[in-house]
Amino acid sequence: MFEHGSRIAIGVSGGKDSLGLLRLLAEIEGETHGSEVVAVTVDEGIKGYRDEALRLVEEACSGLGVESVVLGFRDLFGTTMDEIASRERELSTCSYCGVLRRRALNEAAKSVGADRLATAHTLDDMAQSVLLNILRGDVGGMATIDPGGGSLEGFVRRVKPYCEVPERESALYAYLSGFEFQSLPCPYAEEAMRNDIRGFLNRMEAKRPGTMFVTFNTGLKMIPTLSKGEAIGHCRLCGEPTPGDTCRVCQLLGR
Ligand code: SF4
Repeated sequence: MFEHGSRIAIGVSGGKDSLGLLRLLAEIEGETHGSEVVAVTVDEGIKGYRDEALRLVEEACSGLGVESVVLGFRDLFGTTMDEIASRERELSTCSYCGVLRRRALNEAAKSVGADRLATAHTLDDMAQSVLLNILRGDVGGMATIDPGGGSLEGFVRRVKPYCEVPERESALYAYLSGFEFQSLPCPYAEEAMRNDIRGFLNRMEAKRPGTMFVTFNTGLKMIPTLSKGEAIGHCRLCGEPTPGDTCRVCQLLGR
């Protein structure tokens, strides 16, 4: 995932997983492998929720001596998640947020000159993504679970070092390390389809241990077949890379 002397942007939300990953990569990649680590945080504009996270990220970065950059939806898209959530819309708030946040993280990583963008998706997140893609019929989305990322023009290579770490182990690391992480849940989290999938997978894992690994590995096996021949062009409206003629961000923002 990493090479000696990389410049690694880490998507840090202020939760236990991303703050844990920040600490580990700052130590392993920063101190031992001669890489530079930069924390990139997206401010979606969710009142009361992001404020606590931003404070925690700032404190963690200054304690670790890590550079930190915050990019807001307002600056990038001219709107916030609170504004989007208050509009009439067909999709859940999280559907908008997920697409816009992916774009924002890529922009933030580009702005700091990173050659890798590391996110703290755990094994639980990866297994959920596999099932979500299947249930939504999002064949192209399956490629996003590739933990080593790929080289695509216009995208900083995304890697997921926690992809085989169960969320419970990440939580254990956070508690044993004793660092503070965000306790407030996002006010829109209940709307997410991911919640239903999470509940289902947790029940299956308790009943049949190994379910999450099997689900994730099944998704990985599907990628080579599903992504064959997909050509990437540029969005006719914003110029960002996309497989269609208009990118998902422009579609959702109604540009
Ligand atoms: Fe965005 Fe949904 Fe996550 Fe809230 S729960 S930060 S709206 S993706």
